Amino acid sequence: MAQAVAAMMLRPALGLALAALVGLAGASRPVAAPRPSTTLIRGAWVFDGERMLGGPRDVLIRGDRIVRVSARIGGSADSVVAGAGLTLMPGLTDLHVHTSSAAFPSQAGFVAAYDAYAQRGITAVNEFSVPPDRIAAVRGFRGPAPRVRLAARIGVPGGHGSETEWQEALTATVASPAEASAAMRDVVARRPDMIKIFADGWRYGRSADLADMDAATMRSVVRAAHAARLPVMSHTVTLAGAWRAAGAGVDALGHGVGDAVLDAATIRLMQRKRTGYVPTLSAYEPLSTRVLTEVERDDLSPAARSIEERRVAAPIPPYEARRWAIMVENVRRAAAAGIPIAVGTDAGVTGVHAGWATRHELRLLVAAGLTPAEALRAATQNAARIMRDPRGGRVRRGARADLLLVAGRPDQDLDALYAVRGVWVGGRQLVAGAR
Ligand SMILES: [Zn+2]
Repeated sequence: MAQAVAAMMLRPALGLALAALVGLAGASRPVAAPRPSTTLIRGAWVFDGERMLGGPRDVLIRGDRIVRVSARIGGSADSVVAGAGLTLMPGLTDLHVHTSSAAFPSQAGFVAAYDAYAQRGITAVNEFSVPPDRIAAVRGFRGPAPRVRLAARIGVPGGHGSETEWQEALTATVASPAEASAAMRDVVARRPDMIKIFADGWRYGRSADLADMDAATMRSVVRAAHAARLPVMSHTVTLAGAWRAAGAGVDALGHGVGDAVLDAATIRLMQRKRTGYVPTLSAYEPLSTRVLTEVERDDLSPAARSIEERRVAAPIPPYEARRWAIMVENVRRAAAAGIPIAVGTDAGVTGVHAGWATRHELRLLVAAGLTPAEALRAATQNAARIMRDPRGGRVRRGARADLLLVAGRPDQDLDALYAVRGVWVGGRQLVAGAR
């Protein structure tokens, strides 16, 4: 009893002492931190990045995080969204895009350029065409925009990715492991979000082959990148290149093997190294035979529409037909072997319309044999895993609130992805209601 009384008497005294200390430190009044805003999405189906949960859920967002997922969350929030009949899922990720140079000089240009992604529920992209000297400035741009991971590009002299003057300005070229280590010191100092290696010089038999990056040089790049916690994707289009890149420890092969079917040894190596596979089918699909669904036609921008309308049915060149058959078969083989497949498009290439192509890529993955739910996983959880992003690509407590709300059940029919009802990046709502 005596102790309790003493404690009660002590507390005000301590408070006064602290106030005095604060006063001495020159602070005026203590100011409470602003309360993070909350959003409650009620009664939506939830695809959590892995699978569809067993029934409707309430999901509470505070600030930039998901703080609760439950069958019923009482109370209210600053913003309440009715989710009945809708599906809440992680925003889509496109691991391979090239955006026009208009995106990088100013924040207004940046927001305008990536709006094609934001409006379609693509909340993260890997940008492979940012000029190295713009990385620091672009990082300072504040949305409303998707999360844009800025890649630094490494190639070899005479290799792909540095053929032209403008590409040369984007790509550091290295001819040996020692040159790679030296170049990576400069690259890491620019603080990119990831590394893209131009590893294969095969030009599909369409034109003369370019130089490849050798395995030792690739290992040197990967070692430096991983020491700086930067994921690495490779431009890999051949079976031999897949062996080199997977062996060197890249996080994912970009584009996919198009010269030969994946053999058992390469698949085992990829399983052992946990190599991801990001096939960019949208860039290799023979355009003269492309068939669009009604929702895809409605989704074309005026510029993309005129490209699609000019496209005429024409015989597919033999090299292209063969490559396409092999690439589709390799997606099937990789999926069957449990290799994580993720969505990337190579948007920016002709016919690979920015934003539009991301959802088209999911359709092509399904045509190659994935289920719609597996395609959703490829665009969410698998992409986040490959990018070493434990808070991305999931709907669960602690995950970042990068979210997409759509009408219907995209795990049953990908057309539901076109009925966007809400898009959030870091808890900030970029798109609301039907569009
Ligand atoms: Zn590309």
